[in-house]
Amino acid sequence: LEPAYSFMVRVRMPGGVCTPKQWLQLDELARQYANNSLRITTRQTFQFHGVVKRHLKATIAGINQALLNTIAACGDVNRNVVCHNNPYLSPLHKTVYEWTKRLSDHFLPQTRAYHEIWLDEEKVAGTLPEDQESLYGKTYLPRKFKIGVAIPPSNDIDVFSQDLGFIAIGKNNRLTGFNVCVGGGMGMTHSETATYPRLGDVIGFCTPSQLLEVAENILKIQRDFGNRSDRKQARLKYTIDSRSIDWFKAELNQRLGWSLPPARPFHFENNGDRFGWAQDSKGRWHLTLCLLSGRIKDTPDQPLMTGLREIAKIHKGDFRLTTNQNLTIANISKTNKPRIEALLEKYRIPLPDRFSAVRRDAMSCVALPTCGLAMAESERILPGFLSRLEAVMEKLGLSNEPITVRITGCPNGCGRPYVGEIALVGKSLGHYNLYLGAGFAGHRLNKLYRESLTEEEIIAVLTPIFEHYARERQQGEHFGDFVIRMGYVDEVRAGREFHEV
Ligand code: SF4
Repeated sequence: LEPAYSFMVRVRMPGGVCTPKQWLQLDELARQYANNSLRITTRQTFQFHGVVKRHLKATIAGINQALLNTIAACGDVNRNVVCHNNPYLSPLHKTVYEWTKRLSDHFLPQTRAYHEIWLDEEKVAGTLPEDQESLYGKTYLPRKFKIGVAIPPSNDIDVFSQDLGFIAIGKNNRLTGFNVCVGGGMGMTHSETATYPRLGDVIGFCTPSQLLEVAENILKIQRDFGNRSDRKQARLKYTIDSRSIDWFKAELNQRLGWSLPPARPFHFENNGDRFGWAQDSKGRWHLTLCLLSGRIKDTPDQPLMTGLREIAKIHKGDFRLTTNQNLTIANISKTNKPRIEALLEKYRIPLPDRFSAVRRDAMSCVALPTCGLAMAESERILPGFLSRLEAVMEKLGLSNEPITVRITGCPNGCGRPYVGEIALVGKSLGHYNLYLGAGFAGHRLNKLYRESLTEEEIIAVLTPIFEHYARERQQGEHFGDFVIRMGYVDEVRAGREFHEV
């Protein structure tokens, strides 16, 4: 007898796209082997929780049968490449999604060990020669590496939080290239000021045909210079800060043999999703639903998992997960739209306009009970916390005010808390550090406002600030900008300033 070990299994799904058939297969695996639920992650993919050890192999084999896999969804390699979620809305979106897939394929590890261990592939050779793993070499990367592609004016993927971000630049709906952004990352450790979140620096521009070459050389710089003796200093953000961004640019240009030209102008409006129904230029429909914390399960009030399964049975387009843990039912024909609307109603799946603005944009990591690193609750307190916040905001006439709220159970930052205008980061059971003042478009970090507060205390602390905001905000002023203007917190201009008091 051994303890009943249980595991989290994460699917690799570049750009967060799956077909209805794949949806049904993943849904079945979740019911057969996991905890009767699917969860959309902040990296635009699915996680299964509670897969017991004896079901692990069958779960991974089932994912493979759905023509998906879990390769490089974890580990010190390039992770799932994320992309603005709805490529159908314009030809530019479609092209960018194709580049996202190419980036994902380009950085896949070459080893067959995954297939040998999980899919019973026969071992055909001894040790993998180093030149077969030409990108990663024998020791892979010092730490995980995250790539994302944004399409202005939407910064839904939080491009500045990626190790390597690309900002698509287009003209007349045609892709001309990408601005290159390096050195973002969210994780830190409480009370260790040498660790901090950092937003990426935009260092130049490349054409689509240069994209893979630029990305590969950036990843190789991190492979060669990243800190391999201290895991807490091993992300690209620290490699850059310890040597300087000018050093990084010079090293990249030298490896490329040419210099990145200056970045092109761009503008982001927000880092949330575009909810509700949208019609593209070909007349197809897309519906983005708000799924709090990305959790898909049946409850007595709302059979969400069943409802989405029934939609998958008749849907002819595809499903697109967002990095804000929401879901787009994409590419719906005019004739299928009423059938999908009827199923939404039958299974009581609400349209996003039923939620307040603050609820639509809220995010949380999973935390307790399934994350072993959690110091406090996150997903399970989010709905109640939002209800209390909504009650305060409603009294003050702020119900329609979009304010980004993010909660995580520890400072590792899986819910990208440091780019939330209001963020709660778990400190100990029932206690959170409260951060305020991030940029609404994900372009500025927030700052610690109060330490180790209970939920009750957080509402009490926020209430007078909301009253102040309701009274004295300027036209169109976002909450994150307001708290800086009024001196509640200082503006953070660089990751290294995050802990400054
Ligand atoms: Fe777990 Fe921390 Fe990540 Fe939340 S932020 S899922 S608690 S590691």
